[in-house]
Amino acid sequence: TSLTYEEAIMTLHDTYDPNNIFAKILKGEMPSIKVYEDDVALAFMDVFPQSEGHTLVIPKLVQARNLLDMPSDYLGQYMLKVQKVTRAVEKALTPDGLMVSQFNGAPAGQTVYHLHFHIIPRWEDKPLGRHAEGGMAKPEELEPIAEKIRAAL
Ligand code: AMP
Repeated sequence: TSLTYEEAIMTLHDTYDPNNIFAKILKGEMPSIKVYEDDVALAFMDVFPQSEGHTLVIPKLVQARNLLDMPSDYLGQYMLKVQKVTRAVEKALTPDGLMVSQFNGAPAGQTVYHLHFHIIPRWEDKPLGRHAEGGMAKPEELEPIAEKIRAAL
């Protein structure tokens, strides 16, 4: 990360930035390859996938930077959507396992400050790509994978 020590430790408790990249995706100001959307959550393909099918699920309705400041009343319904999309990824891509992960604060690996869970399919014989550091996937590579996930929802 290019943040200074002071900047990095601030990221855990800073105020929500309504112009963060996922807020822009929610507002339609930034493109994304969506796989699922309802009133509670939006799921879309990660553009720096750590494995084939790497999907993100973000809450709507709330301005939460991370799990710590997510209003408890909204957490349950959001997590049900994380599970729903995880099940669809499993059905669509039949991985050997799935990693579902979430980072709080830059020192923990967080780079975008709107709560999100990563769904990362894993195959026994394929190594995991580096977090937020692999190459940027092209829309034409992600779209067929997204279509399989949509079809499994
Ligand atoms: P984290 O590091 O947990 O905050 O995760 C942020 C994730 O968002 C990383 O895996 C990035 O690859 C991904 N990401 C960043 N910008 C975009 C974008 N515009 N569309 C989709 N995924 C993104």
